[in-house]
Amino acid sequence: MKHTDVIVIGSGLAGLTAALASARQGKSVTLLSYGSSSLSLNSGLIDFLGYDDSHKAVKSPREGIMGLPETHPYSKIGMEEIAEAVDFFRDFAKEYHMPYHGSLDKQILVPTAVGTLKPTCLAPHSLAGSESLEGKKKIVVAGIRGLKDFYADIMVENLKKSLGDDLAYETIEIETPLTGGRDITTLDVARWLDTPEGVDSFSKQLLAYKGKKDTAVIVPQVLGTKGHACYLTVSSRIETDIVETTGLPPSTNGLRLNAMFRQALRDNNVEIVENTKVIGSKCEGKACKCVIAEAGVREKTYTADKYILATGGFYSGGITMRSFDQPEEPIFHLPVYSVKGEENWSNEQLFSDKPQGYAKTGIMTDETLRPVDEQGQHVLENVFVVGRDLGGYDLCFEHSGNGVALASGYKAAKM
Ligand SMILES: Cc1cc2nc3c(=O)[nH]c(=O)nc-3n(C[C@H](O)[C@H](O)[C@H](O)COP(=O)(O)OP(=O)(O)OC[C@H]3O[C@@H](n4cnc5c(N)ncnc54)[C@H](O)[C@@H]3O)c2cc1C
Repeated sequence: MKHTDVIVIGSGLAGLTAALASARQGKSVTLLSYGSSSLSLNSGLIDFLGYDDSHKAVKSPREGIMGLPETHPYSKIGMEEIAEAVDFFRDFAKEYHMPYHGSLDKQILVPTAVGTLKPTCLAPHSLAGSESLEGKKKIVVAGIRGLKDFYADIMVENLKKSLGDDLAYETIEIETPLTGGRDITTLDVARWLDTPEGVDSFSKQLLAYKGKKDTAVIVPQVLGTKGHACYLTVSSRIETDIVETTGLPPSTNGLRLNAMFRQALRDNNVEIVENTKVIGSKCEGKACKCVIAEAGVREKTYTADKYILATGGFYSGGITMRSFDQPEEPIFHLPVYSVKGEENWSNEQLFSDKPQGYAKTGIMTDETLRPVDEQGQHVLENVFVVGRDLGGYDLCFEHSGNGVALASGYKAAKM
């Protein structure tokens, strides 16, 4: 049985951040990883707070966060640590050659694949939408032949509404050798762009816009899978601003971020144990003594001084619910908060100006991110809860998913 200072359970953005921040404080860390996280689905943009309680767009996430109720995870984490987490992330992203733009003080507006604008706080250069589009007179939307779920004409129609129809718009279609009877995904194209032939062909097809400073070229999220390398090559060849959109999964940028974190974890000697589902724990009083994981055909026990639970809540199996109104956390059996009464559970309209009651389901903590019961008493002293396992916020409604994951992962590492 191996003992480390810290065990992190779950390798989404919250777990990856907690593991890296712990390792950088000189702790020995084991990361128990099972399944692909929501980084393969999400844009890899770090949204801190896009909308307030009445679904009004938040201009300054910093100010918006300060007005949140005390039950919200950000209120537990505290502004000082949220700001430190932003600096930690930006420094790490820069060190691993995919620098992120932005701050807590204003939103970057990133074009989606249908031409609406999505607010976010931190975005890599290739996705820094409004920062690159500002002052442009012409927008060129480059579709890719055979790429599913990206229609340049629809995008232009919606961009006219969000950016204004006084700009000039043009659509073009990039040819690729990626044919063969099935629709292609952004990830297929990104892998082609990882090759010298791919990047040559792609850049050549954009040469008509070379050096046009008043023009920006918008492309789906296809600029390679390896950090920023492809974005820099294409930008330097066409000498025109190039902007990626968000899009449907798989998310190339989420996968870039995932790869970058995993490299950093290896560089910081974090032991990553893949395909390991934690199925339980042994606790004495208020201390967790070990966690038990399924490892192939047998069970394995891991011990640490501190455990960080980052199993992704309802969406990733970190919280389950077999009977209505009785959500469960299956590893430590922590108390799970949820709204009471079926009528408050969901709002009939999936996308509306009202949050979904069920979305706030999760574990409540104190300011140290240790789990607490209904009376606010610690349940376990050496377990910390992060990311989507936390209760009291609706990440889809308020656009705060990766922000909470990053800030809570960072704070739990410091505790
Ligand atoms: C389609 C989609 C798009 C999104 N887009 C954005 C966006 O653009 N911007 C933004 O800020 N947020 C976005 N979000 C929200 C964001 O993805 C999450 O809120 C955030 O990344 C959650 O991170 P996490 O680490 O808490 O959980 P997850 O990413 O879900 O990771 C949890 C991990 O724990 C593992 N796990 C679960 N149980 C166990 C176990 N027993 N043992 C071991 N491992 C276990 C899971 O397999 C998973 O890998 C999006 C979410 C979705 C679904």
